[in-house]
Amino acid sequence: MAVDNALSSPLGPPACEKDAKALQFLEEMTRNADSVQEDVLAKILTQNADVEYLKRFNLDGATDRETFKSKIPMIRYEDLQPEIQRIANGDRSSILSAHPISEFLTSSGTSAGERKLMPTIKQELDRRQLLYSLLMPVMNLYVPGLDKGKGLYFLFVKSETRTPGGLLARPVLTSYYRSDHFKTRPYDPYNVYTSPNEAILCADSFQSMYTQMLCGLLEREQVLRVGAVFASGLLRAIRFLQLHWRELSDDIESGMLNKKITDPTVKDCTLKILKPNPKLAEFVRMECGKENWEGIITRIWPNTKYLDVIVTGAMAQYIPTLDYYSGCLPKACTMYASSECYFGLNLNPMCKPSEVCYTIMPNMAYFEFLPHEPAGISQDSTPKLVDLADVELGKEYELVITTYAGLYRYRVGDILRVTGFHNSAPQFHFVRRKNVLLSIDSDKTDESELQKAVENASQLLREFNTSVVEYTSYANTKTIPGHYVIYWELLVKDSANSPGDEVLNQCCLAMEESLNSVYRQGRVADNSIGPLEIRVVKNGTFEELMDYAISRGASINQYKVPRCVNFTPIMELLDSRVVSKHFSPAVPHWTPERRR
Ligand code: AMP
Repeated sequence: MAVDNALSSPLGPPACEKDAKALQFLEEMTRNADSVQEDVLAKILTQNADVEYLKRFNLDGATDRETFKSKIPMIRYEDLQPEIQRIANGDRSSILSAHPISEFLTSSGTSAGERKLMPTIKQELDRRQLLYSLLMPVMNLYVPGLDKGKGLYFLFVKSETRTPGGLLARPVLTSYYRSDHFKTRPYDPYNVYTSPNEAILCADSFQSMYTQMLCGLLEREQVLRVGAVFASGLLRAIRFLQLHWRELSDDIESGMLNKKITDPTVKDCTLKILKPNPKLAEFVRMECGKENWEGIITRIWPNTKYLDVIVTGAMAQYIPTLDYYSGCLPKACTMYASSECYFGLNLNPMCKPSEVCYTIMPNMAYFEFLPHEPAGISQDSTPKLVDLADVELGKEYELVITTYAGLYRYRVGDILRVTGFHNSAPQFHFVRRKNVLLSIDSDKTDESELQKAVENASQLLREFNTSVVEYTSYANTKTIPGHYVIYWELLVKDSANSPGDEVLNQCCLAMEESLNSVYRQGRVADNSIGPLEIRVVKNGTFEELMDYAISRGASINQYKVPRCVNFTPIMELLDSRVVSKHFSPAVPHWTPERRR
């Protein structure tokens, strides 16, 4: 399609008129980052001038940055807990936002073991959709012809609950997929999925995955990109194929749908696509029946040009496995977002994972940046927050946001490093999330949660006069799903009565029971995390670990046992000292309802 020259973009020639407009919008926003930010803050503060929270700090209707910065404190989720609780309990007054809180988005970040509840308002859906609408115009600059086929995306909804006051609480993607913005999106040849909406929206994760995989197999030659939100999700789909290719092939051969698919809407829509195809069934059996699954993605979906999955941050651990299954296809990390707010997108999505940087879109919220000091250097008691347009190249910052929905100077907990600028908008490398020790899927376990879990589990050792003298951990992603491995060095005081295999298995379960609800949901409902493993190591192992660290320059005075390890020589040392391995014998308790 010819594109009007007036609409061409500095990012490259747009694929179509619609893309040209999107790219032009991107240019405008990034050229005027600072004034857009000033405007966004003024809009948020005008809209919410009369809300209780802002009045408490005597903002008195001011909408300028200086007054805002001088009066409104920087906060964490815990500081907002009383307001969140009131809203959850049904207080409909304007506490945080002048617009009614339409629902809570349940973050994968937790507070006191439960998902954080992020207030949101209806109009935020438009902003999320706006960011989504920019992704394909950027991708089309790098990968031509995406309108000639489809995307095989494994997308899922998760369970929803209601707060005591009746507000829905669900993950942001569940909210988005269930919205009309997604369900009744207009046809766009560049954005056609093999998965029917009904399959994506089916809350039963087996039925949803089964039908999405089946539809992806049926249209295998049309598939041009394969994706999931996070790398862990795509690997879970591959694992699902490993476990279920026989049943899937039977369905393809006979044209009849597996009896386990009972959801009527899912059944109806799948049966419209499913026709007997013995040749395809034979192909799937032949490929999946091979012992070697290397390159399976490109063998089954030969026209795949790239994988669309986030492999930055904690997901980087999955890059080698994705490369193995895909024959090193490019991995596109397209966007950076959270329950609190969608932040921005990657303007060069086909770059190497290590080079991914996200451009924060200045229209999404008001962004501030807390200079991040390396561990050991004390933070200024009144640190000065830096504006989006003022961040410095090479420096690290913690992201602080002010949103239309009523978060004011809220610390997200992500550490970002400035790697460059697009026009006047900075681009950031996602460095890490603060305080996360272990993560397999969207679970995030911090040091104190791990400590508590070890303490709880070690109660079971008391009657054996045994204690845990040292421990460390690592996220084992060599298995699919991955699982937590905890190394324990035990002090057994009475060797005639030492804890046996069964007790240590129960210790694994006790640890899982004390981990946060996102972890337990991953174990129980999503099957995205495997049983926790305890590896008991020989006495003296942790001393050897210290000797090793000191030999590499650590100071004896300052040495602390690392609570998580991922350095190969250290893991080899630990593994060579393992005397026994134990796994959780059951899944921990989890229900969608919150404990508090
Ligand atoms: P949630 O609130 O559960 O949606 O989780 C949001 C968090 O996921 C963010 O604050 C980041 O820590 C992480 N995250 C989201 N997008 C990315 C990305 N593209 N790369 C790395 N981490 C991400």
